[in-house]
Amino acid sequence: METNQETHQPKRIYLKDYQAPAFSINQVQLHFNLSESQTRVKAKIEFKKLTEAPLVLNGENLKLISVRLNEKILSTNEYSVSDKSLTLHQVPSEFWLETEVEINPEANKSCEGLYLSAGIFATQCEAESFRKITYFLDRPDVMTTYTVEIEADKIKYPYLLSNGDLISKKDLGNGRHTSTWKDPFKKPSYLFALVAGDMGVIEDSFTTKSGKKVKLEVFAPHGKQARCYHAMESLKKSMKWDEERFGLEYDLNQFMIVSIDDFNMGAMENKGLNIFNSRLVLADPQSATDRDFDLIEAVVGHEYFHNWSGNRVTCRNWFELSLKEGLTVFRDQEFTANLHSRSVERIKAVDALRGSQFAEDAGPNAHPVRPESCLSVDNFYTPTIYEKGSEVIRMMQTIVGRKGFRTGIDEYFKKHDGHAVTILDFADSISKPNNIDFTQFKLWYSQSGTPTVKVTESYDASKKEYTLTLVQSYPLTEKQPHKNPFHIPLLIGLLDSKGKDIKLNCKDLAFNSDQMPILHLKTNQQTFVFTEVAEKPVLSINRQFSAPIKLEWNASQAELLHLIKFDSDEFNRREAAYKMILEELKRLVQAARSGKPMQVRDTLVEALGFVISDKSIDPNFKALMLQLPDEEVLAQEEDVLDAEAFHKAYSEIYASLVKKYQSQLFDLYQKHLVIDNSADRALTSSLLTILVQGQAENATTLAYKQYTSAKNMTDKLAALRELCQTESLETQQALESFFNEWKSDAVVFNKWLQVQANSRSQKTFANVKRLSQTAPFSFDTPNNIYSLLSVFGDNYLAMSDSSGETYKWMCDQILRIDTKNPQVAARVCGCFNFVKKLPTNLKEKAQNEIRRVLASTSLSRNARELLEGNV
Ligand SMILES: [Zn+2]
Repeated sequence: METNQETHQPKRIYLKDYQAPAFSINQVQLHFNLSESQTRVKAKIEFKKLTEAPLVLNGENLKLISVRLNEKILSTNEYSVSDKSLTLHQVPSEFWLETEVEINPEANKSCEGLYLSAGIFATQCEAESFRKITYFLDRPDVMTTYTVEIEADKIKYPYLLSNGDLISKKDLGNGRHTSTWKDPFKKPSYLFALVAGDMGVIEDSFTTKSGKKVKLEVFAPHGKQARCYHAMESLKKSMKWDEERFGLEYDLNQFMIVSIDDFNMGAMENKGLNIFNSRLVLADPQSATDRDFDLIEAVVGHEYFHNWSGNRVTCRNWFELSLKEGLTVFRDQEFTANLHSRSVERIKAVDALRGSQFAEDAGPNAHPVRPESCLSVDNFYTPTIYEKGSEVIRMMQTIVGRKGFRTGIDEYFKKHDGHAVTILDFADSISKPNNIDFTQFKLWYSQSGTPTVKVTESYDASKKEYTLTLVQSYPLTEKQPHKNPFHIPLLIGLLDSKGKDIKLNCKDLAFNSDQMPILHLKTNQQTFVFTEVAEKPVLSINRQFSAPIKLEWNASQAELLHLIKFDSDEFNRREAAYKMILEELKRLVQAARSGKPMQVRDTLVEALGFVISDKSIDPNFKALMLQLPDEEVLAQEEDVLDAEAFHKAYSEIYASLVKKYQSQLFDLYQKHLVIDNSADRALTSSLLTILVQGQAENATTLAYKQYTSAKNMTDKLAALRELCQTESLETQQALESFFNEWKSDAVVFNKWLQVQANSRSQKTFANVKRLSQTAPFSFDTPNNIYSLLSVFGDNYLAMSDSSGETYKWMCDQILRIDTKNPQVAARVCGCFNFVKKLPTNLKEKAQNEIRRVLASTSLSRNARELLEGNV
C-alpha cells in the first residue's frame, strides 16, 4: 500500500523559481515486463547536456535494480538515490542511460502511476506520476519521442496498448507476448500511457481532410461494448469539427479510448491512447441520462482537442496549466455550442462557472488563472484554471471577433508546434496579428477574484440622451493586497418599450470583427453616453456573459420582466429571470432568519407564470428559465450560510408557484412527459421538481408513477431524485428496485448513491454512514467516494448539524482516504469551502475538526493546502 511519507512541513513551490532543464532527451525506449506485484521497467534514455549540472532524475516508490551509463554498469558509489530522485554527479555531454526498476501495481491504490483496475493495467501520469513508473526528467518542458515494448501473459492481457502507432507484435512461445509502439511526436512524460488487459472493443474509422484513414477503437469491459457507440460517434464528430473550425487534423494512424472504473479524474488525453473514467464513456438510454450523453460528448471532444492544445503544444510548467486546460475547455464549449443550442449551452456553462469557480474565487483557495505558488501541483486542477481560463480566452475572442481569433489560433499552432510554452505566449499569438494591446487584459491571468461592475443609469428626455456609468471593483486578498483595473469587454444592447433593440449611437462604443457592439471598461469608472434615444431604454448588458463578472444593477421588477419577455439575447433573457429569483431568495432568507413571515412577491410569481404559459419558448430553454439558482450561488451572496433558512426560501418559491399554477403545471408536465425528446425530458424534470418540492397534491404518487413507467434513465433518475426529497413508502420501494436492478453496474450504482446523499431528509446522515459501510461501496473506488461523500458534503441542510457529528465524520473519512489516495481526499475537502460562513456554533465545531485533520503529521500536501485556509 502506498502511504504518504511526508512528516515534515511541506515546501511551497513558486512560479518565479522556474529554471529551464539542464538536459534534453533525444529519445527514450521503454520496456515493461508486466506482473501484478513485480513489474520490471527498463528505460533507455539518450541525454544531451545543455548546461553544466548534475543529472537529477525524478523517481518515487521505485525499487532500483541497476543503472548503466553508455552500456557500463555503474557501481552504487557512482550515483545517489533518495526516496524522490536518482542523481548522477558526473556525466558526459551526450550519453545513453539505462535503468531498471521494479514496481508493485497491485499494491498501488492511488490511481496514479501504473496500477490495476478490475484486472486491467492502467496508467495516470499527469501531473507528476510518471516518476512512479521509472526514473525520468518528469516535467512538461522535456519533450521527446517514445518507443515502448510491453511484455505480459497472453491469456490474461491479450491487449497491450501504448501511445502512438503499433509497429510490431510477437508471441514469445512461453505463454507471454509483446507489443511494440512508437510515437513519432515529441511529448512530455505526463502524456505517457499504457493499458494491458482483456477487454471488449468496438472499431470504426475516420478519414481526415487530407485523406488519411485513422483506425478508431473504444475499449470497455466485456459485455459493455454496446454502451460505447455514443463515445465513438462523439469522437468522429470531434475530429471533423476540429478540422472545420480550427483546421486541425489528427496526426497518428490510430486513436484509442479505454474505459476504466477506478480513475481519479474525468479522463486523460494521453497521446493516441485516451484513458477515461467509465462514467464518461459508457452510455445507452437505459443506463445513462441525457446529461450523461451530453457530458460524454463534451469530454470525448475535450480530450481529443488536447491532441493539439496540450499535446502538440504543451505547458512550460504546471503553473501554466491553463494554457492547455483553459484553451481546451473553450474549444469543447464551442464544439458543444455548435452541435446544440448556443444559448442553452452558454447558460449551462455559466451556471457551472458561478456554482464552482465564483465560489472558489470568493473563498480561501482563490488563486489566479496562472497561480504563483502551491504546495501540490495536483491542486491546480481547479475551476479557476479550467473554467475561468476558458472565459479569459472567450473574452479574447469577443474582443478580436471570431475571424481575428482564428488568425491568432493559426499563428499559435504554427509558431509553437512541438514546444512547451506559456500562457503569455498564447496571449501574444492572439493580440499581435490583430494589432491589439493585451498588456492590461493579461491581468486576468495574474489577478485572482471575480470583479464586480456596478451599473448606474440616467435618461434625459429633453436631450434624448441615455447615460450609463460603470464602476468596477475587485476583491483584495491577503495574497494580493494591490490590484489594478481589469479590461472588461461588455456586449451591450438597449431595448425600446416594444422590446426591440434600438440602434446604438455612442462615440465610445467599439465593434469587433463580427460587428458586435462592445463597451471596453478599462478604468475604475467610465461613463458612456448614448444619443438619439427616443425613450428611456431597458438595458441589456454583459450579453452572452461576455465577461466573467458580477453585475450590481438595481433593475426594477418591471425592467426584468421586460427582458424576460423580449430580450433578443437569450442568455440575458434567462439572466433576468435568474436575477429576479436570486433576489427573491435573498429576501426570503432574510425574512426566515429574522422570524418574519415569508411571502413571495407577486411580480416573481407573475413573471414565472408568463414563462410557464408562453408556448413559444423552447422546452429546453423553458426548463432553464424555471430552474432556481444553485445553493452555492446563494451562499456566495449571503454573509451567513444558514442552511435551514435557505431550504425554507427555496421551498417557499416552489410552493408559491404550485399554489397559483398547480393545474397548469400538471397539464404542461403531462403534455411533455409523453414526448420522447431530451428537451421535453429536461422540462418535465424541472416541472416535477416544482411539483414535489412545492408539495402539490399527489406529487409523490406522480413521481413514483414516473419512476415505475420510465423508459429511460433520464426520467427514472429525475423521479428517484425527487422521491428522495420525501420520506414516503414509495421512496423506499423505488430505491430498493433501483438497487436490485443496478447494484452490480459500476457506473450506474453511483447514481443510486448520489440521490440519497443529496436528500434533504433528516435521515440522510445516518443513511450516508450506513451506505459507506455497505458493499458494493468501496473506498478504493474514487467514483463511489465522489458520489456519496462529496455529494453529501455539498448538501448544506444535511451537513448542518448542531452536534458537530457530520463534520467529525467527514474529517475521519478525509483522513482515511488520504492515506491511500491524496488526490481524492483533496477533492472531498471541497465540502468545507464555506465553513467560515456557517453560523458561529457550527463553524466552531467544523473548524475544530479541520484543525484535528491539519494536526495529523502524515496528512498529504494535497489535503493540507485545501484545508489550511478554512481555519
Ligand atoms: Zn483537459
